[in-house]
Amino acid sequence: MRKISDWGNYPVIEAEVSGFDTTAQLRAQLEQPGDVIAFGNGRSYGDASLQNRILLTRRFNKFLSFNDETGELCCQAGVLLSEILDVFVQRGWFLPVTPGTKQITVGGAIAADVHGKNHHVDGSMGHHIITMDVMRNDGTVVTCSPTENAEFFNVTVGGMGLSGIILNATFRLRKVDTAYIREETVRASNLDEIMDAFEASNDWTYSVAWIDCLAKGDRMGRSILMRGEHATTSDLVQQMHKEAPLSPKQGMQLGIPINFPDFALNPLSMKAFNFAYYNKTRPGTHQQIINYNSFFYPLDAIDNWNRIYGKRGFTQYQFVIPKEAGREGMRTILKRITDSGLGSFLAVLKLFGEQDSFMSFPMAGYTLALDFPISLKAMDLFKELDAMVADYGGRLYLAKDSRMDAAMFEKTYPNADEFRQAIALLNEGATKFSSLQSQRIGITS
Ligand SMILES: Cc1cc2nc3c(=O)[nH]c(=O)nc-3n(C[C@H](O)[C@H](O)[C@H](O)COP(=O)(O)OP(=O)(O)OC[C@H]3O[C@@H](n4cnc5c(N)ncnc54)[C@H](O)[C@@H]3O)c2cc1C
Repeated sequence: MRKISDWGNYPVIEAEVSGFDTTAQLRAQLEQPGDVIAFGNGRSYGDASLQNRILLTRRFNKFLSFNDETGELCCQAGVLLSEILDVFVQRGWFLPVTPGTKQITVGGAIAADVHGKNHHVDGSMGHHIITMDVMRNDGTVVTCSPTENAEFFNVTVGGMGLSGIILNATFRLRKVDTAYIREETVRASNLDEIMDAFEASNDWTYSVAWIDCLAKGDRMGRSILMRGEHATTSDLVQQMHKEAPLSPKQGMQLGIPINFPDFALNPLSMKAFNFAYYNKTRPGTHQQIINYNSFFYPLDAIDNWNRIYGKRGFTQYQFVIPKEAGREGMRTILKRITDSGLGSFLAVLKLFGEQDSFMSFPMAGYTLALDFPISLKAMDLFKELDAMVADYGGRLYLAKDSRMDAAMFEKTYPNADEFRQAIALLNEGATKFSSLQSQRIGITS
């Protein structure tokens, strides 16, 4: 038994934890009866990969094949996105979809059907999977794709590990000329301005905004929109970049050595941080060429930044509301958050495209993600926010959740019932895939 948690350090549990190098070893572990769940790299925030018995997938991490013509990569599910980038960017290939951290596994990316800054153009991860192999609870391996065993494929993409253990997947990488991004930043002084800026950015491949959730009144929603395209060689201006367009110079890696004391996160320190960040960007629109790490993974430059929230841990509240409810809904919810004074220094706003798969979180609309240190006050606030999100026809992201109740899940995920039934059928037998999250939100018993 050992202590284990996901990224938010809440909850922390004692579990029996083991890994596997071969499918035979995995099969032997699945022969032991009881509840079990896959654990990728623990970058979901709550309890989606926690259970009394946990199967670590990280050792199952080999590249299996790559086609240099088409960009088709087949790899085992424990490979990290960072490992793919390390090998393939220098050969002129990039991920089709990437979240705000590259420290996640391919299995975790499929199971949560992760989205990136290009969701409005390219959809989420599941959309790019050509085929994958998944081990079921009885040890059999199912090959599935959008056309082969499609029902099984649909409950595995975004299925949070409840249909089986993803063994390997094939997907197509994206051709790039350089390791750089042509980034444009736009400063918006309130919510209306940032929403206008998003509407005007539909043609950009990547867009995301950092929003100051502590700004109130006329300044509520002040933000910085960052939109980008993969830079071509002719976009590069610095000699150093031109000489090695596919080998970005790495920035410094900083670390947070210990858990921060709770007082480090008081509203004043957060306000100061927000203000400094906003004022770093001059008013108007600005262009620059930056390496892909700075554009996609600014937080990865600080090791263990989750420790800044102290021992109590934190959670991320990420919701999406449909576009029609966008302006009014976002204003109402944001006002409630700013009034509470509990808002985090990290808040990300994004405009999604259509829902991509059966259990996908994104829907055409606005999503906002905020971190909150765990507290009773925050838990009460979340209940209020849940009611608002549900009333506006929105939902919460399972990969960030550690506290939603079954009623909220049921109300807001239109395929909840069908998903539950499918998982119940697949779970028949002595070994059951289930997580603390799936038990809490009523998908598994
Ligand atoms: C800084 C940060 C930024 C983030 N930004 C985004 C973002 O922009 N967009 C986004 O969509 N997400 C984002 N996330 C969330 C993250 O991408 C997802 O939670 C992802 O699922 C984590 O993958 P993991 O490998 O760490 O898996 P874990 O967190 O360990 O597990 C996540 C889920 O996947 C299942 N799983 C893992 N491996 C397998 C497998 N081989 N077979 C079956 N099931 C498996 C687990 O059972 C669990 O249900 C962010 C997280 C962090 C920490």
